[in-house]
Amino acid sequence: MPNTNDEQKIVGRGAREGARLFREWFERLTTASERGEQAAYVFVMGSMCEILRVFDLHTVFPEINSLQTAVRRVANDYLTMAEDYGYSPDICGYVKADVAVQLRGGEHPMGRIPKPSIAVLTNACNTYIKWAEIWERFYHIPVFTLDIPASRTAGVRTQPGDPDFERDRRYVEHQIRELIALCEQVTHKRFDIDRLREVMGHANAMSQAWRSILETNRNVPAPFNAVSEGTIYLGVINALRGSADGSAYFQDLLRELEYKAARGIGTQYDEKYRLIFVGVPCYPIFRRFCELFTEHGGNFVNSTYLWFAAGGQNVGFQYDLSRPLESLAEGVLLSVRSAMDGMFFGDRLLVETANSYRADGIVFHPIKSCRTVSTGLADTRRAVMEQQDIPCLFIESDLMDKRVVSEAQMKNRIDAFFEGLATRKLRAA
Ligand code: SF4
Repeated sequence: MPNTNDEQKIVGRGAREGARLFREWFERLTTASERGEQAAYVFVMGSMCEILRVFDLHTVFPEINSLQTAVRRVANDYLTMAEDYGYSPDICGYVKADVAVQLRGGEHPMGRIPKPSIAVLTNACNTYIKWAEIWERFYHIPVFTLDIPASRTAGVRTQPGDPDFERDRRYVEHQIRELIALCEQVTHKRFDIDRLREVMGHANAMSQAWRSILETNRNVPAPFNAVSEGTIYLGVINALRGSADGSAYFQDLLRELEYKAARGIGTQYDEKYRLIFVGVPCYPIFRRFCELFTEHGGNFVNSTYLWFAAGGQNVGFQYDLSRPLESLAEGVLLSVRSAMDGMFFGDRLLVETANSYRADGIVFHPIKSCRTVSTGLADTRRAVMEQQDIPCLFIESDLMDKRVVSEAQMKNRIDAFFEGLATRKLRAA
C-alpha cells in the first residue's frame, strides 16, 4: 500500500489515467457522427494512425471494441447475434462481436461506434482481410490493404541499409503514398506533411517510452503486471498513438514505474514467481484468469501480447522527421515485421526474454478464436524447451467465447504448474 503523499499520487496513476483516457476516447467516438466527423476502421498491428490523424479521421479499433464486450461480460449476446445472422461458431470471436456491433447500429457497452468512411489493414493477420470485406459489403467504403513483407527465414532479419531491406522499404513507402492519395479523396482534405511530422514526433515519444516501460519489469519485484495492467496500457497505446495526450501519458507512466522500481515497490505484494505470457488473455473471465496466477504469487513480467498488440512499438523505433515518408515506411516495416516474427519465429526471442527478465516459467495460452497467433504455439513451446530448461504451461481457452472456457479445468492445470515451480525452487535452494 502507498505510504507517503508522493506515493499515493504516483503509484496507480497509470491505471487510473489510462482508464480515464480510454473512456474519453470512446466518448469522442460516440459523438463523432453528430459532429460530422469521419472514422477509419483499423487494426492494432499496423494501424497507420500516423497518416489517418493527419486527415482528422477517428481511428476505430474493432478488435478493442470486441474485447471490451467480453471484459464487460456481454460478449455472448453479440456472438450469438452474429451466429444467428449466419457466421460460423468456428471463426474469430472478434469478428463476430464486431458484426453484431454493426448490426446493432454501433451500439456498444462503452458508447456508440461510428460507421467507417475507410478501412485500413495490413497482412499481419489473415482474418483482417476477410473482416474488412464485411465492412466493404455493409458500407461500400474503400478498403486499403497495406502489404508488409515479413521475415523470410528464421534468424535472418534484413536491416536498414541492406539491399533487400531497402527494396521492402520502398515497396511499403509506395503503398503509403497510395494511402495518402486515398485519404485525400475520402476526406477532401489536402495532405499536410508538417502535421505528419508533428504526429510522428508524438509517436516517437510514445514508442521510446513504451520500450523503456517494458524494461522496467526487469526489476525484481516487477512494477507492473504485463497481463492485467499491460492490457490497460495497450488500450491507450493504440487509441492515442501519435497524439500529445498519448505521449504525455506514457512519459508519466514511465516515471511512475521507474519510481516504483527504484523503491522496490512491486505490483504484487508477494512476487514469488516471474512469468512470461504468450498469446492473448482470456477476456470472458479476465479478472479471475489473472487471479489464478496472482493467488500463487505469480506475476507476468512480460508478454508477447505487449509486443504484437502494440503494433510492434516494443522495438522503440524512432522516426527521422527530416524524411517522414521514408522513415514512416521503415518504421512500419520494422515494427509490423517484428509483430509477425513474434508469431512465427518466437522461440529465440522468448528464451532471450525469459533470461533477461529472470523468468521462472512461460505460460502459453492458445485460443480457439485466433489461429493466427495460436497455431504455432505448441511448436514454439517445444522449440523453447529444447533450448532452455524452463517450465512451460500450455492452457487453452478463448478470448471472447465463454462457452469454451472451463475455469475449473484451467485452475487444475495452473495449480499443478505452480506446484512444479515450488518444487523446483526448493530443489534449487
Ligand atoms: S485471428 Fe487473432 S490476430 Fe486475427 S483478428 Fe482474430 S484475434 Fe486478432
